[in-house]
Amino acid sequence: MNSPARNISPDRRQIRQLDEAAINRIAAGEVVERPASAVKELVENAIDAGARRITVTIADGGKTLIRVADDGCGIAAADLPLALARHATSKIDGSDLLDIHTFGFRGEALPSLGAVGRLRITSRVAGAEGAEITVTGGRMSEVRPAALGPGTVVELRDLFFATPARLKFLRTDRAETQAVTDTVRRLAMTEPFITFVLKSRRDEEERVTFRADAEQGELFEALSARLASVLGREFIQNAIPVEAERDELHMTGFAGLPTYSRGAAVAQHLFVNGRPVNDRMLTGALRAAYTDLLSRSRYPAAALFLNCDPHLVDVNVHPAKSEVRFRDPGAARGLIVSGLRHALAENGHRASSTVAGATLGAFRPEPAGGGAPRVYQMDRPSRGAITSSYRAQAPGFASPAPAYGAAPARPEAPAAFDGFDSAPSGRVEPLPDTAPEPTQEAHPLGAARAQVHENYIIAQTERGMVIVDQHAAHERLVYEKLKRQAEANGVAAQALLIPEIVELSSTERSLLLDHAEMLSRFGLTLEPFGGNAVAVRETPAILGEVNAGAMLRDILDELSDAGDSDLVKAQVDAILSRMACHGSIRSGRRMRAEEMNALLREMEATPHSGQCNHGRPTYVELHLADIERLFGRT
Ligand code: ADP
Ligand code: MG
Repeated sequence: MNSPARNISPDRRQIRQLDEAAINRIAAGEVVERPASAVKELVENAIDAGARRITVTIADGGKTLIRVADDGCGIAAADLPLALARHATSKIDGSDLLDIHTFGFRGEALPSLGAVGRLRITSRVAGAEGAEITVTGGRMSEVRPAALGPGTVVELRDLFFATPARLKFLRTDRAETQAVTDTVRRLAMTEPFITFVLKSRRDEEERVTFRADAEQGELFEALSARLASVLGREFIQNAIPVEAERDELHMTGFAGLPTYSRGAAVAQHLFVNGRPVNDRMLTGALRAAYTDLLSRSRYPAAALFLNCDPHLVDVNVHPAKSEVRFRDPGAARGLIVSGLRHALAENGHRASSTVAGATLGAFRPEPAGGGAPRVYQMDRPSRGAITSSYRAQAPGFASPAPAYGAAPARPEAPAAFDGFDSAPSGRVEPLPDTAPEPTQEAHPLGAARAQVHENYIIAQTERGMVIVDQHAAHERLVYEKLKRQAEANGVAAQALLIPEIVELSSTERSLLLDHAEMLSRFGLTLEPFGGNAVAVRETPAILGEVNAGAMLRDILDELSDAGDSDLVKAQVDAILSRMACHGSIRSGRRMRAEEMNALLREMEATPHSGQCNHGRPTYVELHLADIERLFGRT
C-alpha cells in the first residue's frame, strides 16, 4: 500500500513510548464509551468503598455533568494523587489476578476519566480533614483542603471535551440519560442494602428520576423487594424463585413465567458475582431453558444471580467487564438450563397474573385512554384463524355463533351479539350436594362447574374461578405425555388400517426418510412409497386420528429448521410439540363434568401446563376480589 497517510513511513520509523496522557486516553476508549460507562465505574467504586447510600446526578444525559456521591470509606488526602495514577488500586496487590472479590481492580477508571473530562474528587476519611484534587485533560492539580461529610464525591464535567471526535458518537441527551438510568438500575438490583438515587438536572431544575431505598431483612427477601422496586411488582408476581447449585456454582434469583415473556431480550438481567453481565453464553442458556415453553420470537424475563469462587470465572476478558469466561462453561450452562427447568416444572400449572389483569381490563366499561397498554404480549394467531380452526375441529358443531365467538368482550359489542339465535353452547353442571369444596392446596384449579362455547371450562376455586382453554391445555398435556413416552420406551404407536400415502418433493421425502428411525421412536412409522411419496403406517396412539399429511409437513418444517438448532433435544421437543398440535382435537368437544375435572387434575399434575406449547396461557384465574371489584362491590 502506498497511501500518503501511511502511519509507518521510513521517516517516522522510530518507536516511542507514548506519554501518560495518551495512554490514559486510549484506556479511556475501552473503559469509557459513553456517560453510562463512567457512571458504572464510579458507582462500582462507591460500592467497593462500602457506601450505604449512593447519589448520582447527571446533566444533559451526563455529557456536561456526572456526579457520584457516596458515604463510603473515603480516600485519604495523601492518597488522592495515587488514586489518579494508572494501575494504582487499593483493591488487589497484583499477586493473584484471579482472586477478585471487588468490582474494579484494574486501577484505570479514575485516570481514564481524568484524561477525557474535567475530573474533581473530593473525599474525606472519617476522623480526618476532607481534601480535593482536580484533573483536566490529564493534568493533575495540588491536593487542597475541602469541606464535606465522610465519603467521596467524584464529579466529571464535560466528558470528551478533550477528544471531540468521540463526542460525535454520543447519542441524544435522552438516549444517554436512558443508558445511565439502565446502568444505575442494574447496579441497584445487585445491592439491595444500599440506597440508590438518580437525579437529572435540566435548566437549573433537578429531578429524582430513579430511587431505590435500602431494603432490610434477609438477603433473599431484601433481593426480591429490591427487584420489585426496580423491575416492578408485576415482575415478582409473575416470576418464580429459583435456587440451584452445581459444581461449586450457585444460582439464585427469579425466572419469569413463560406467559410473562417479552418480544425482545429487554427484561433479562444476569449477574455474575454481583456484577451485571451481558454475556452470550449465559443469555443463550437462559433461552435454552425455555425452548419448549416459548416460541422463538419470545424472550423470557429473568433476574438471575450466579455466584462462584472468583477462581472459577474470569471477569476481565472485557474492559467494561460485561462479558465473562467460566473455567467450565458447560457447568454454568447446565446449571442455568436445569435449574430453571426444574423451577418452571414445579410451577408448571401457574399462568401469569397479567393474563388475569388483561382479562379484567377487557371487562372494564371504560378503557383507560385510547391506547391501553398491552399488559402481556404474545404471538397469537388472529381471532379469525382461531375461530375457523376451532370450527374445523368441531365435528357436529358446524356453526357456532361466529360474531359472538369472534368479538372481544367490549362494551361496543352487544349489537353484534346474536349468540342465542344459534344453539346455545354453554352447559352448566349441576352441583351435587355431596361435592367436596375444592381446597386450594389439593386442587388449585378447582372444580369444573360449566363448559362454554365447547372450549372453555369454568371451574370454581377456593379463591375465585378459573377459565381453562381446553384445547390449549390438552395440547400441552399431550405434548408432555409424548415427551415422557419418548424418553422412556418410545411413543406407543397405533397402526393405520390403510396406510396413508403422502406426496412430497424429493428433498422432503429424503429428509423425512433420513429421520425415519427417530420418527419411529416417536410412534410415526414411515416407509418409502413409489415416486416422491411416503407411506405412513403408524401414528402415535395418543394423538388419535390425525391428518398425517399435515403432520408430516409440520415435522418437515422442524427438520429443515434444524440447521440453527444446536441441541438434538431441542429438535426432538420441537417435533413432539408439532405432533401434539395435531392430536389436540378437544376444542369443540363437549365434555362431561368428570372429563373436565380429570383434565383439571391432569393439568395440576403436569409440568408446564400453565401454558400451551407456544407460550400462550392455558387458563386464566380471576380472584373473587377482582370479580367483586368488577361489580363495584368493594
Ligand atoms: P480500581 O477501582 O480499579 O481500583 P479506580 O481508578 O476506579 O481503580 O480507583 C482507584 C482507587 O481509588 C481505588 O482502588 C480506591 O482505592 C480509590 N477510590 C476510587 N473511588 C473511590 C470511592 N468512591 N471511595 C473510596 N475510594 C475510592
Ligand atoms: Mg474502579
